Amino acid sequence: MLELLGWVRARYISPLATVIERAHPPRVVGEEGPVDGVARAEERSPEHPAQPGVTTWLRPLPGGEATACVGTIETCVAAGNRAILLVPEAEPLPATARAVLEAFGDRAVSFLGGDARARYRTWLDIRMGAYDVVVATRPGVFAPVRALGLIWISREVHPGHREDRAPYYHVREVAMARARLEGAACVLASLSPSVETAAAIEQGTIGVSRPARSSERAAAPLVETTPPEGEDRSPRLATLLKRARSAALVVSRRGYGVARVCRTCSEPAKCARCGGPIVAERGAAACRVCAAPGACANCGGGSFGIERGGAERVAQWAGHIATIPVRLDAGDGCAPPGAGSVLVGTAAAVKDVGAVHLDLVAILDPDRALARPGVHAAEQSLATWMEAAAWTGPRLTGGRVLVQTRKAGHPAIQALVRWEPLPYLSGEGARRSEAGFPPGHPVYRIAGRGDLAGALRAAGAHTVLSTSAESGTLCLVAVPPDRLDGFRREVLKLVAEGDVERVEAEPQL
Ligand SMILES: [Zn+2]
Ligand SMILES: [Zn+2]
Repeated sequence: MLELLGWVRARYISPLATVIERAHPPRVVGEEGPVDGVARAEERSPEHPAQPGVTTWLRPLPGGEATACVGTIETCVAAGNRAILLVPEAEPLPATARAVLEAFGDRAVSFLGGDARARYRTWLDIRMGAYDVVVATRPGVFAPVRALGLIWISREVHPGHREDRAPYYHVREVAMARARLEGAACVLASLSPSVETAAAIEQGTIGVSRPARSSERAAAPLVETTPPEGEDRSPRLATLLKRARSAALVVSRRGYGVARVCRTCSEPAKCARCGGPIVAERGAAACRVCAAPGACANCGGGSFGIERGGAERVAQWAGHIATIPVRLDAGDGCAPPGAGSVLVGTAAAVKDVGAVHLDLVAILDPDRALARPGVHAAEQSLATWMEAAAWTGPRLTGGRVLVQTRKAGHPAIQALVRWEPLPYLSGEGARRSEAGFPPGHPVYRIAGRGDLAGALRAAGAHTVLSTSAESGTLCLVAVPPDRLDGFRREVLKLVAEGDVERVEAEPQL
């Protein structure tokens, strides 16, 4: 475990104390019994030698991850080893997590949420070897499991797998490192993988496990495209919605609409506090960035001309069209999609709900989703669309997916239609390489002073983008993996000399 924590410290250029703090639940002394202080020696039994640490991208059939996961863990446990399942979110309990907890009964433990005392108690029990299977969110990648045979990462692309506090680790990378160090297998499960994983598949460093192409084709949903009209609707959507007995509509924007113009002074609408966009949601206008009540940056007015569009507006419209009830998932514990209702929500509403069969899944504004800023926006969109599309079941069962796009030929849309993500993701990887940030190159945002860009280039950075901020210089760098050791040593020197103030690994770009 110390070796793993050392790897995290080096990879994310973070103090070991910070890594250790993030990797352990806070200690609750009252939970410790006489034997808990010292872990019992427990070695992997010699008849089950460690496997070389291999990582595999596993593509389940639509709705099939839970079954695949239970089966793989069964094999692992039957060989005398233990397993960790990592899910990106705890609430509501993902279908894969539920299936594993049910299949393994009291040999499995849920390390999802809970108060400090319960978490620490569970952590001690895991360390004592009380469980064969641990189901957890991202801190579980450090769970003190001995004789580890398998780490399964569910929905590999989900943003919940990235720690947003120092050391800013990504579960996928830590799990792969742990699998190498402990001779376990690492499985990255997703219908559409990350660009990093796709690049590693191309390079042969990550293996692939997916059904035969013919089975995948037979199980793939039926996807059609149509151009959108105003407010993210289309005649085709109205027709399909009218006859649907179950449906889900995925929109990229929350709320009822976006404030375009101030009604008092006619200036373009901008937040008075931060200049961010103002959106109408639940009957009120508020800043999307800082959440301040909507007030015009120019005159302070609070009345705006609204361009309608967003999940709330779509739900209102769908209520007039559909013959079944419409539910808006506003992130407040809405029931999963199912028979007899239309679910409307953003990507946040697309969760691991297991196998469901809806008549209709509509992706209302994929062009807007693809145009969002952010390095990971497109790969996350594609993964979300595939997860939602899988809710219609195989193409022969009558459900269908409607994609409202003006760019039906866009490689991401074609990936969804053809149910094959790898060529698109490989193209994305090539684009990132051209931009100076090849997949697999560690990226850091470094704040400091002086000739920071020059110093970081000299330290071995492959790409350095530099901007001057009020307090100094901010650099975005990519570092070739084989130069990382030297780069880290130089950065630590710069920290000691006071020229570097802050290092953030894998920033959200
Ligand atoms: Zn604001
Ligand atoms: Zn105004």
